[in-house]
Amino acid sequence: MRQIALYGKGGIGKSTTSANLSAAWADKGLDVLQIGCDPKHDSTRMLMHGRVIPTVLDLLREQKHDLIVSDVIYTGYSGVRCVEAGGPEPGIGCAGRGIIATFQLLEKLGALRGDLIVYDVLGDVVCGGFAMPMREGYAKEVYLVTSGELMSLYAANNIAKAISRLSANKRSQVRLAGVIGNGKNIECEEELVSEFADAIGSQMVAFIPRSKTVTQAELNKKTVIDYAPASSQAEVYRSCADTILLNTEFSIPTPLSIDDLESLAYRYLKE
Ligand code: ADP
Ligand code: MG
Repeated sequence: MRQIALYGKGGIGKSTTSANLSAAWADKGLDVLQIGCDPKHDSTRMLMHGRVIPTVLDLLREQKHDLIVSDVIYTGYSGVRCVEAGGPEPGIGCAGRGIIATFQLLEKLGALRGDLIVYDVLGDVVCGGFAMPMREGYAKEVYLVTSGELMSLYAANNIAKAISRLSANKRSQVRLAGVIGNGKNIECEEELVSEFADAIGSQMVAFIPRSKTVTQAELNKKTVIDYAPASSQAEVYRSCADTILLNTEFSIPTPLSIDDLESLAYRYLKE
């Protein structure tokens, strides 16, 4: 069983990418479990054709009965099994708690199984619950999703710092497996993200262009793989899915100093 985590800044395209990768893997016949680890709880929405599934945290809050697998896992496109950790009510509690509660419950139910588990994790703050998917031997492969925007590179670099710190513990098996560029239509963006990936001791495994097909698919409440399987964008996701399946280049990252990160981004801005 492979356990893969996608981390990145809020709004960068983690869920879009995760859902399309899961859909591509499921179409190949793999048994995929996608776990949304973001209080926004919309990771699996396109896989569920717009249906908002109950979050683990909401179900635990209601505490109507002892939860069973069918309360928390919902089957979406091509058989992808979907879970949403959820988040606290605004103003109360810690956002990472939903993730911790989800891991505990899925472990108890023996539900962390399949060919592939995909964790779609908000990476703005890599503390507590948000670090959980890459601690304790869950996801051994972390992919950073970033555009060429400084704030998104900044978040990716911070996650690289967390991986580097966690891997200092000899028992930890977490590794950086690559960077996925998700375009924002910035000039020379692919080169910038690729250079960033090399600079932190990793590699860019895919560059996903900004595309109207993504927006159209989203308006139709579907992944691109589902909505426009013959499109070039669907091919980009399928190719990224294949690259990840074949990837064996896992590293302990070498995060950049803020000065180095800024000068890298500014160098591209000036060109
Ligand atoms: P995150 O999960 O990181 O918060 P989302 O996957 O929800 O981000 O994406 C945020 C918005 O960006 C969504 O409206 C999504 O459709 C859009 N988006 C993501 N990737 C692309 C892309 N490659 N091309 C066009 N729109 C995209
Ligand atoms: Mg998301």
